[in-house]
Amino acid sequence: MSAVEHGFKAEVQQLLNLMIHSVYSDREVFLRELISNAADALDKARFLGLTRSDLIESAHESPAIRITVDAEAKTLTIEDDGIGMTEEEVIDNLGTIAKSGTRAFLEAAREAGAEAPELIGQFGLGFYSAFMVAHEVVVETRSALPEGTPVRWKSGGEGTYTLEEGSRGERGTAITLHLREDAAEFAEDHRVSATVRRHSNFLPWPIFVGDEQANSGKALWVEPPSQVTEEEANAFYKSVATDWSDPARRIHVSVDSPLQYSALLFVPRNRPYDLFHADARRGPKLYARRVLIEENAQGVLPEWLRFVRGVVDSEDIPLNVSREMVQKTPVVRKIGEALTKRILKDLNRWAEAPEPEPEPEPEPAEGEEPALPPPPPATYDDFWRNFGMLLKEGYYHERSAWGDQLLPLMRFNAMSHSDGSALMSLADYRGAMPPAQDTIWYFTAESREAALASPHLEAFRKRGWDVLLLTDPVDEWLVSVLDAYEGVPLKSVSRGELELDDDDEEAGERADLSEFAPWVKELLGDRVKDVRESSRLTDSAVVLVDDDDGMSANMERLLRQSQTDASGFKVQRILELNPRHALIRNLSDLRAQGQEEAAADLARMLYDDALLLEGTVTEPAAMGRRLQELLVKASKAALS
Ligand code: ADP
Repeated sequence: MSAVEHGFKAEVQQLLNLMIHSVYSDREVFLRELISNAADALDKARFLGLTRSDLIESAHESPAIRITVDAEAKTLTIEDDGIGMTEEEVIDNLGTIAKSGTRAFLEAAREAGAEAPELIGQFGLGFYSAFMVAHEVVVETRSALPEGTPVRWKSGGEGTYTLEEGSRGERGTAITLHLREDAAEFAEDHRVSATVRRHSNFLPWPIFVGDEQANSGKALWVEPPSQVTEEEANAFYKSVATDWSDPARRIHVSVDSPLQYSALLFVPRNRPYDLFHADARRGPKLYARRVLIEENAQGVLPEWLRFVRGVVDSEDIPLNVSREMVQKTPVVRKIGEALTKRILKDLNRWAEAPEPEPEPEPEPAEGEEPALPPPPPATYDDFWRNFGMLLKEGYYHERSAWGDQLLPLMRFNAMSHSDGSALMSLADYRGAMPPAQDTIWYFTAESREAALASPHLEAFRKRGWDVLLLTDPVDEWLVSVLDAYEGVPLKSVSRGELELDDDDEEAGERADLSEFAPWVKELLGDRVKDVRESSRLTDSAVVLVDDDDGMSANMERLLRQSQTDASGFKVQRILELNPRHALIRNLSDLRAQGQEEAAADLARMLYDDALLLEGTVTEPAAMGRRLQELLVKASKAALS
């Protein structure tokens, strides 16, 4: 086969342009990316070797990643004895973008414009990051499968690549980078070794730079937890999670019976961009006796712990079943349950701990640059803001198994927090309840601002009772299954009849609404389910209330947002009238004096007004028309 030229797919070219013109300061991460590809290839070969004996030989007795440099020629070669690639695989893998993460990067880069370089480190761009430092890349590869023939792939990253027959005799891949002038430093052993130690120290495969092994090569998770330093653990986290910041929390477990397993797990400090992408593959790396079984094992931990990263390894996982099946075996299920328990226990410990003191800045030694201050420790509240919605999801789906451990972890916004930055637990709320209060009150709304402006809170403010403000979409589902906390019922302030005793004598005159309310209901017809007197208002004239057993208005809003055809969701609500409000008293008097028509014109506006007050105007045009008609009459009356 002579060399054949192929064009890159358009999006690959976009990505390559970003790489070629990258001014990303931390571009040494290209080495981490190529080394992890090599390690994956070694993992895959080892896994395949468990079931097949006809694989092509590797060149070396013990598999490893070997890096050689040529300072004169300015080249860097990364070689592995892994699975290799067939010609077809080369075209698929190195000519298109398979990874959804890379696509997400391109989108983010398009949006971020000038800040794109900083994004590179966050996404982990794999093979293509070689073009940050190389003006030409040559890949020599041979598949471990006997039917594969050697292939040579070459590209300068500008539009095309060529493919030709290669000369590699053994299985595996060698990637040679012809370094750009400004990246010649990577043709030097010590620079490369230091980079390997920094980013790839704990890969369980030996990495040789020249004749020396540069990484420690130990599987950190099987070390006794007490002997793993924070620095080691953090570096390990960054390499497994492709994250650029330290983790917020580390959970290191080593258990011998009844099952043997070790796990080194982490809670990230930041919320990953794809936490809610449907196709994001998340889960710890699953090893069996140090052999990687699955990169993102989804069956080990529950879905709602998908933010947890790290490694799980067990001696007891059977190797003779397929990857898909491994995750469903009883052993893996039991390990997963035990780990879930450990993680929740650790989160509870964190939630109870007092806020950490910021560490004092270290004094720089004589003549030294002051070191960058370490980032402040991550707080539990930060964690909750990033991942709390997943734990609520967990409560909804698995409250019978984990509810007791999940409830103390919950944090909420509350009416009493003036700036909305602090969060409150159910225990905090309960502890602050005055003796007369026997219910935990909450309000589900679109935002804290919308909630605070709502008439629903008036009566509670007046009584000095706090209200939890639930503004996460998932809250609506949470409260549908969370009806009590330690024997205290949870109720919505916007639902059902509120039985607050009206002991306020000075509040002034009140209208008798026994005839007026049914009359307003007649006027409004189907738009409301009922009209009745309110005990939850002090300042406003009207408020809309959710029916005791109907869908809440907030839920209706959420469903409308999530469905294109929302015609099926229309809840009928109850209009409550404040008998002490001047408007209600006047209208009721007007009607009682026989001025029905004038009263009716105004009373029709009460429903519109209630919608305006809660910020949900569903028919703005119709409302505008009613208002105009009313203004015409009012102005005419003023003229006469
Ligand atoms: P990722 O590794 O995250 O999938 P990359 O762009 O780094 O994305 O690599 C694309 C694919 O190319 C890999 O998934 C793998 O199938 C293949 N590949 C890359 N490097 C190697 C290698 N050294 N050996 C075998 N296959 C490789």
